[in-house]
Amino acid sequence: MNTPPIIPFSQPAPYRTLSPLLVLRHGSRREQICIIGLWLVLLAASVALGLAAVVWQWSGLPVSFGGVDVYISIYPPLLLCLLWTLTCGWWWGAIPAYCSTLVLALYAGMPPPWAALFACANPLGFAVMSIGYQAIAARRDLRNTGSLLFYVQLCFVASIFSSSGALVWCYINRIDSTGMLPIWQGWWLGGFLQSVLIVGPFMAMLWPRLARWQASRPALMSQPKTEPRRSVLRLLAVICLGVLIYGFLTIQLAGNQVRQVDFRHLGELNHAVSVMQQTMWVFYWVLASLFVFTAVFGYQLFSHWQKSTDQLLAKLQYANVSLETLANTDGLSGLLNRRTIEEGMRKEWSRAQRQDDQAALVMLDIDHFKEINDHFGHPAGDAVIRSLSATIKSVIRTIDLAGRYGGEEFVVILPHANPEGALAFAERLRELVDAHPVRYEDRVIHVTISLGVAVLDVADQHPDSWLERADHALYQAKHAGRNRTMMASMEAKTAA
Ligand code: GH3
Ligand code: MG
Ligand code: MG
Repeated sequence: MNTPPIIPFSQPAPYRTLSPLLVLRHGSRREQICIIGLWLVLLAASVALGLAAVVWQWSGLPVSFGGVDVYISIYPPLLLCLLWTLTCGWWWGAIPAYCSTLVLALYAGMPPPWAALFACANPLGFAVMSIGYQAIAARRDLRNTGSLLFYVQLCFVASIFSSSGALVWCYINRIDSTGMLPIWQGWWLGGFLQSVLIVGPFMAMLWPRLARWQASRPALMSQPKTEPRRSVLRLLAVICLGVLIYGFLTIQLAGNQVRQVDFRHLGELNHAVSVMQQTMWVFYWVLASLFVFTAVFGYQLFSHWQKSTDQLLAKLQYANVSLETLANTDGLSGLLNRRTIEEGMRKEWSRAQRQDDQAALVMLDIDHFKEINDHFGHPAGDAVIRSLSATIKSVIRTIDLAGRYGGEEFVVILPHANPEGALAFAERLRELVDAHPVRYEDRVIHVTISLGVAVLDVADQHPDSWLERADHALYQAKHAGRNRTMMASMEAKTAA
């Protein structure tokens, strides 16, 4: 059987998360203490670092970046919680991120309902990361270009979603639209840069070890989502929305800078124009990077789908070949079944007639097979059939066809064979069978066969008459004392 090659194609493992419920249900005492303990430390550290960011005012710090002046906010809880989100799942990072932002907002005097809303900012960004990795099973160790670009793109969209918090902050603190730009820009750019430049390298270092740990504890991990198409659509919608929000806010907030300017003061005008210019440059670089990311990522997605389609096709081909072989093969002997050997005979008859070529048909039957069954049992009889089939397979050429015609009756088609060649083949097979008894369990079964050979003759007007002549020769071999070969002559055919 020709088996098509299966194209090797390894897919990254699907996104599975550490399930808190499964940890409590199936985790060992030590695992529960370690995981929950570490998470509580994360919660406490996030709240403390969140407060520190407010007390020491780590937000909206001006930074010069490649000739462009931008504002960056440092928010350490984001780093810790994002790391937990990426490695363990959304809930693990979202809850501490929510608590830390809530506490700092209350500390800063934000009314509780607004603080509750404000605290959703980072969990919203983390949701984008989770949706992304659910949709595309990208490598989380970021060790190839595709996975790195995917991560960077996700970080950008996630930080845009997170930066919604900046707008709430500005609204509550009555910061006018001119002052909003540095805070908003600081928020998204700070979040983006921290995620890429700090969390990224940590993921590259930690993830392989953590992935091994998680793989060794499948009972603690949630089942991966099985709706890739819907997840990809959701991801695309989130990315589009993120980019649109980003574009809108950039234009709106930068425009506000100009609208507020008192044109009588040249200094103010200069400042507004310079802010506008810087913002547009950031806008340009973000869009340019997005284009590159999208192109590379789109290519990766395309080649991923193409590889999986190729693999599916190869599997389908393989399944078709297997099915065809199964439909043509006799279960016990592994030779062709009766339908297929009859079809082969018809084809060979047509070919030989058309090309005016020679061909021979050998029909053979096991001698006194009933006695073998009676004496050694039916399974032993089956073993004899299998052994004879193996012997037939070992002596035929690749162009010959061999099939099981009935119970213990076989047919071999020998294309291009002349009478001498066909007779020599039949005798070789008979002698082999005679000389090699079949061993079944601890018994030795001596088996002989009788054979009838019919070389195709011009007088054979139909394939059936060819087979009849071989059958007749076999009958003669039986009649003459078995364990012998008889050639069908044309006279024999005429007589029949
Ligand atoms: P002969 O030399 O004249 O061929 O004598 P024989 O005993 O072989 O006679 P015959 O060809 O009529 O016997 C066929 C026997 O083969 C009858 C049946 O029980 C047995 N048989 C048919 N198919 C199978 C099979 O798949 N497995 C086994 N174990 N026996 C089978
Ligand atoms: Mg028999
Ligand atoms: Mg028989």
